[in-house]
Amino acid sequence: MTAHTSHTETQCRSCKSEDIGVFLDLGETPLSDRLVDPAKRDEAEPIFPLKVAFCSDCSLVQITETVDPNVLFADKYPYYSSFLPALLAHSKKNVLARIEDRKLNKDSLVIELASNDGYLLKNYVEAGIPVLGIDPADGPPAVAEEIGVPTLNEFFTKDLADKLASDGKIADVIHANNVLAHVADTNGFVAGIKQILKPNGVAVIEAPYLKPLIEHVEFDTIYHEHLCYFSVTALDHLFKRHGLYLNHVEQLSIHGGSLRLFVEPFEAPKESVLGLLRNERDIGMDKPEYFQDFAARVNKLKSSLVTMVRDLKEDKYTVAAYGAAAKGATMLNFCGLTDEDIDFVVDRNTHKQGQLMPGAHLPILAPEALVELKPDYVVILAWNFADEILEQQADYRELGGKFIVPVPSPRVI
Ligand SMILES: [Zn+2]
Repeated sequence: MTAHTSHTETQCRSCKSEDIGVFLDLGETPLSDRLVDPAKRDEAEPIFPLKVAFCSDCSLVQITETVDPNVLFADKYPYYSSFLPALLAHSKKNVLARIEDRKLNKDSLVIELASNDGYLLKNYVEAGIPVLGIDPADGPPAVAEEIGVPTLNEFFTKDLADKLASDGKIADVIHANNVLAHVADTNGFVAGIKQILKPNGVAVIEAPYLKPLIEHVEFDTIYHEHLCYFSVTALDHLFKRHGLYLNHVEQLSIHGGSLRLFVEPFEAPKESVLGLLRNERDIGMDKPEYFQDFAARVNKLKSSLVTMVRDLKEDKYTVAAYGAAAKGATMLNFCGLTDEDIDFVVDRNTHKQGQLMPGAHLPILAPEALVELKPDYVVILAWNFADEILEQQADYRELGGKFIVPVPSPRVI
């Protein structure tokens, strides 16, 4: 690829310090979300370095390469949140709790950043509460409009926030789920949130938590679209710089361990926040030493999984995989597992079926293929939805099918 499609950061994405040190190098990999059209399987895919660094000043863990958003999002297969039943239930519970604890009504406004296909905001619409979705993707915002969720088809930036604020679009509640880590202008995004939040409003932000990533070797959640990996310490620094305060936090099991952050324009931290800050300090998450053995642990997982899959192949067992998401691509590409090792991958998202996984080139089929083709083993790449997948695949398991969960260390279930 030509040099202008990505660049290497030399400063921290949050505090701009130059004291950032790389502790994990996942090599040069294709973009994890970029599925390949089978007709183009012989064309070279663009590859980019994937290195992870720690900032000694503000504790932010981040990748060092920024791929140009025009490249990152061009021809991207759209992700539709409504294909994930577990996420729908999770979102509805979140909304009902917010309506209750913030006493929302027809005069309130709820804004969601990265509102996708309206999977979350539709719950407010059903309760008669005005909403505004903001999402730059092609496809999902049109679906949101169809189900009655007004959506601006734009990137959320500080400029857009200024415009919304001057139009009086100030929110009682702002939702931002799994987007803060994806934006290249981290500071602009947080400044924008401050701009469109009422003085007594709250931003409810979900982001994967760095601690389980490190403890459970969830290195496959690292990919080019995902620029930052947050500790509470790093988030506290980031928000304070913009006059916002992390006042409450809930820990969630979704996506392998996430944080739900309650951020307000005044400082009143609850014990939930203070306790996590203390814990992170106690275990040393604010020091580079905490991360120094991570690369060795990642390499150990890789060699166990590769050995397990190749031994099965040698013994004439067939192996498939479940989950054509970004984390699956990171796992396959870093482990060097291809269509010679794993026959195919299944995914419920009909938009992905018929395409190939980036790099590894596994064909993507519908989940019914497990019962039809009866592979002996299935590697659960979407291990964050393992319970749901096991339940959904009861018939395949009845037929003797076995699953392999790759993290924190590969095991057969
Ligand atoms: Zn920093």
